[in-house]
Amino acid sequence: MRLEELIEVYDKIEGTTKRIEMTCYLADLIKKTPKNLLEKVINLTLGQLYPPFTGVEIGVAEKLAMKALAISAGVSEKMVEEEYGKIGDLGETAKKILSRKAQLSLFSEPLTIERVYEGFEKMARATGQGAQDIKIRILTSLFNDANPQEAKFIARFVIGKLRLGIADMTILDALAVAFGGSKEVREYIERAYNLCSDIGKVARVLAEEGIDRIKKFRISIGNPIRPMLAERLTSAEEILEKLNGVAFIEYKYDGIRIQVHVRNGDVKLFSRRLENITSQFPDVAKNIRDAIIAREAIIEGEGVAVNPDTGEMLPFQMVAHRRGRKYDVEEVAKELPVVFFAFDVLYVDGVDYTLTPLLKRRETLTKIVRETDWVRISTHRIARTSDDLEKYMSEAVSNGCEGIMCKSIQNDSIYQAGARGFLWIKYKRSYKGELADTLDLVAIGAFYGKGKRAGSYGALLMAAYDEEEDRFCSICKLGSGFTDEDLQKLPEIFKPYNIPHKHARVNTNMEADVWFIPKIVLEVKADEITLSPLHTCGYGIIKKDAGLALRFPRLVSFRIDKSPEQATTIKEVIEMYYSQKKVVTEAKERIVEET
Ligand code: AMP
Repeated sequence: MRLEELIEVYDKIEGTTKRIEMTCYLADLIKKTPKNLLEKVINLTLGQLYPPFTGVEIGVAEKLAMKALAISAGVSEKMVEEEYGKIGDLGETAKKILSRKAQLSLFSEPLTIERVYEGFEKMARATGQGAQDIKIRILTSLFNDANPQEAKFIARFVIGKLRLGIADMTILDALAVAFGGSKEVREYIERAYNLCSDIGKVARVLAEEGIDRIKKFRISIGNPIRPMLAERLTSAEEILEKLNGVAFIEYKYDGIRIQVHVRNGDVKLFSRRLENITSQFPDVAKNIRDAIIAREAIIEGEGVAVNPDTGEMLPFQMVAHRRGRKYDVEEVAKELPVVFFAFDVLYVDGVDYTLTPLLKRRETLTKIVRETDWVRISTHRIARTSDDLEKYMSEAVSNGCEGIMCKSIQNDSIYQAGARGFLWIKYKRSYKGELADTLDLVAIGAFYGKGKRAGSYGALLMAAYDEEEDRFCSICKLGSGFTDEDLQKLPEIFKPYNIPHKHARVNTNMEADVWFIPKIVLEVKADEITLSPLHTCGYGIIKKDAGLALRFPRLVSFRIDKSPEQATTIKEVIEMYYSQKKVVTEAKERIVEET
């Protein structure tokens, strides 16, 4: 299949922000793609060679791409750099520079998707000495045979900035349209995706083996399962009502979520964003290997850093120190050892437990985990009254936890992979009272700083996640809570995500100085949620012509463990807005009663 055919579709996709139109273009593409190529085409469209949990990256820096471009165009590197400086997008730069020599390349062969993908794969595989040369050679040869539009795609892809703005859910929609179109087909496809986190694989199985195979899709060890997420509520009464009068209470540990895959003593750890984090936590992997009594298992739990001298649990920020670390892993593991609190089991020796009710899952968990100092099973209680629920909440907090997770034990209390629902409800101490709860927001842009902050960013533009539309809607500018050191580092931290225009999945009326691919999640605290005409979060829902905004937002932490789709949703912000109003009204009523 010619690369040109793919690029034509990408151009159409780039020309729209409407999810329905994108879905139609993608469905057409899926239909005309040969079966054996579909997995590759899906991955290319997502800007990746393989799903993110494999950790495989092309590893081409901008400098290297510019060098290949210069060689192919027969111009100096300096000239490419200057053009790039002016245009600010390496794809457009490649297109411009290579259109000048287009008529010269009489001997070039049209590019096929097979060849381009193979070239990308070879670049990804090249490591160690000589890797740079191999990458330059392959990339130059691709540029040599590319027309300007194709060069734009290649340049953006290799540096990781394809930014078509297509989310996983849109691809699932398109697959469903292309393979039948019914709601039922869509549900099966999504379930298969939730079980393997690999859309390319789902597409391949669909194309090669059909929907019947997708209906029977099975979990595989090594493919992370998309995590189940919790809703939140703000009072014990509401929680018990939602859970039909009985709550399975677990401590809510303040660490990072870890999904563990075990096969014959080999242990892999995946983060909540489905990255393979085994190499950052070798101690945790070893401790779990020693504690699991099963040949194959997938369990979930929270990794919490503890003080090595006292055993006291430390807050999330401490375990976050160990994430993303490539060096000194062993030393840091001694300074900040991590206890793993298992809270769920999804698979054991060929049996899928995701559709089994919670109590049965817990029973299985206790059978396959032999508790040690480092691997424990989460503490649980049963609450049938709000007094009990409040009592367990205080108990959890005084034991160093964030609050409690209240889980359903009804017959339908399955593990809802990839979904947020009321089968799990989080209840944090801080919900009570003023808006003391924090929000996890996605950085979508930035404003240049002035005065002391000149040369860095003065504020970031933050957004909440709109689940319905699968996009990010702005909610506040965030300029407080950063240390001077943090501030200095901001442009560097966000550099890999810089793009010259507002991202296709971003919805805001604000004009930022710099735009980002929505990737980085920050935890933000604020005084209040207010109505504002400036922001698009929940626009028009509470009041016509107004969205929701945060008053006095300030940074709490970088939530490197969360993906943008796991940020606080607009629905949650609206719920927080109402519950804050309720608290204020109740407080006012109390004052009236007391006076
Ligand atoms: P939040 O990050 O505030 O949305 O809360 C959900 C997170 O709480 C989960 O993703 C887990 O990382 C964490 N957590 C801590 N303890 C538990 C537990 N007992 N059950 C489920 N999740 C837990």
